[in-house]
Amino acid sequence: MSAGAGIHCDVAIAGGGMVGLSLAAALAPLPLAVVVIEPVAPDASSQPSFDARTTALSAGSRRVLEGIGVWDGIRAAATPIRRIHVSERGSFGFARLTAEEQGIAALGYTIENRLLGRALRERCARIDRLTLVAARAQGVAADATGLRLATDRGDGIVARLVVAADGAESAVRRALGIAATSSDYGQHAVIAHVDTERFHDYTAYERFTPQGPIAVLPIGEGRSAVVWTLAPEAAERALGLDDQTFIAELQQAFGSRLGRITRVGRRQAYPLSLTRSERLTAARAVVLGNAAQGLHPVAGQGFNLGLRDVAALAELLAEDCAARGAAADPGSAPLLERYAAWRQPDREAVIRFTDSLVRGFGMPLAPLRALRATGLLAFDLLRPVKHEFARRTMGLAGRQPRLVRGLPLVARA
Ligand SMILES: Cc1cc2nc3c(=O)[nH]c(=O)nc-3n(C[C@H](O)[C@H](O)[C@H](O)COP(=O)(O)OP(=O)(O)OC[C@H]3O[C@@H](n4cnc5c(N)ncnc54)[C@H](O)[C@@H]3O)c2cc1C
Repeated sequence: MSAGAGIHCDVAIAGGGMVGLSLAAALAPLPLAVVVIEPVAPDASSQPSFDARTTALSAGSRRVLEGIGVWDGIRAAATPIRRIHVSERGSFGFARLTAEEQGIAALGYTIENRLLGRALRERCARIDRLTLVAARAQGVAADATGLRLATDRGDGIVARLVVAADGAESAVRRALGIAATSSDYGQHAVIAHVDTERFHDYTAYERFTPQGPIAVLPIGEGRSAVVWTLAPEAAERALGLDDQTFIAELQQAFGSRLGRITRVGRRQAYPLSLTRSERLTAARAVVLGNAAQGLHPVAGQGFNLGLRDVAALAELLAEDCAARGAAADPGSAPLLERYAAWRQPDREAVIRFTDSLVRGFGMPLAPLRALRATGLLAFDLLRPVKHEFARRTMGLAGRQPRLVRGLPLVARA
C-alpha cells in the first residue's frame, strides 16, 4: 500500500460490518494490501451490523470462521443448535431436524452479533497488511491503476479491486452503476432476548403464525433470542408494550414449548425486504453480502450466504496470487467473471428458498393451512428431503469453496 494522492492498495472494502471484516480476515494469508472503509465506530449504538441481534451460523459458516481465524474468539460464547423444530400455529403438523439424524455434532450455532463483531475486529487488528479507514465511501471513478473510491473525509482510495460490502442500501453499489430491486415484505422483525421456565435444550424453534414467523433461538445461559415478524403497525405497538403485556402476547403466539416466558430484555425492530443487486460485479468491483442480497431473516441465511461469498472471492484471489505471483491482479475481468458464475446458483437458490418460505407461510387461509400442515408432517417423515433441507440450512449444498469445506484457503506445501 502506498500514500500520496490518497491511499493506493490492492483491495478496498467499503463497509466494515460482518461481511466486510470477514473478507478482510479471509485475505490475511495473501500478499495483498487491503483497506477497510467504515464510518461507524465499532462500539457506537448506531453500528448497524454488530448490534443487539443474534445470528444463527450454519456448520459451514463455523468452518469458514475457523479458517479465517475468528472462531477461537467466539467459541466460548457460541451456542450449538442440536435440533430445529418447525411448526405452524393452529395446525397439527410440525417438523424436526436433529443433528443426531444428520450424523453431526450441531446443525449450527448462535452468536450475539456484538460478540462476533468484537472477535472480527480483534482478528483484523492482528493483520499487518490491513488498514482501517474511519470514513464513509461516497463515489467511485476510474483511475489509471484501478478505481478511486471517494470518501467523506476527502482522501481518495485507489484500489485494483473495490468491494461493496456496505449493506443493503449500498452507496458504492449505486456509484458503480449497479441497479438493485427491492420488494418490501410489509413486515418488521421485532427482536428480544427472553428467559423461559424450561431450558431450551439447544433447540431452535421456527413457528409460523398468521401474523408472520417467530424464530426462537437458543443462546447462552439458558436464554433464547426471539425474532418475531409482525406487520409494521403491530411491531410498532409491540415495542411500546410494557414487558408483561409483551410477554403475554408472545407467549400466546409462540405457545408453551419452553414453558412460561419469565422475562424479556430490550426490544428492537427491523423493516424487512428482499433487496437484490442486478449484477454481482462491475469493472474492478464486486458487491458482497447484503449489498448483493438483503434477505428476510426467516431462515437465518443472510450472513451465512455472505460468508460463502467471502470464501469464494478469497479463494479466487488466492488462486490468482499463487498462479501469477507479482503479476496477479485482484480486479481482473476473468477473475470477476469466474466469481459471478460461481456464486450465481447458490445465491439464486437461497433467495428463492427464503422468499418462498416467507410467502408460502404468509397467507392465513384455512385450506392452505391444512395443506401446509400435511406438508410439514410429510416433511418430517421424508428423510431424503429433510437431508437436503438440512444441507441447505447448514450451508453445505452445491459446489463449496475450500474454507466452507474446512480446508485452508491456501493449500499448505
Ligand atoms: C432481525 C435479523 C436477524 C438476522 N438473523 C440472521 C441469522 O440468524 N443468520 C444469518 O445468516 N443472517 C441473519 N440476518 C442477516 C444478517 O444480519 C446480514 O446478512 C448481515 O448483517 C450482512 O452483513 P453485511 O456486512 O453485508 O451488511 P451490514 O450488516 O448491513 O453492514 C454494512 C456495513 O457497512 C457500513 N456502511 C454503510 N454505508 C457505508 C458507506 N457508504 N461506506 C462505508 N461503509 C458503509 C455500515 O456501517 C456497516 O458496518 C439477520 C438479519 C436481521 C435483520
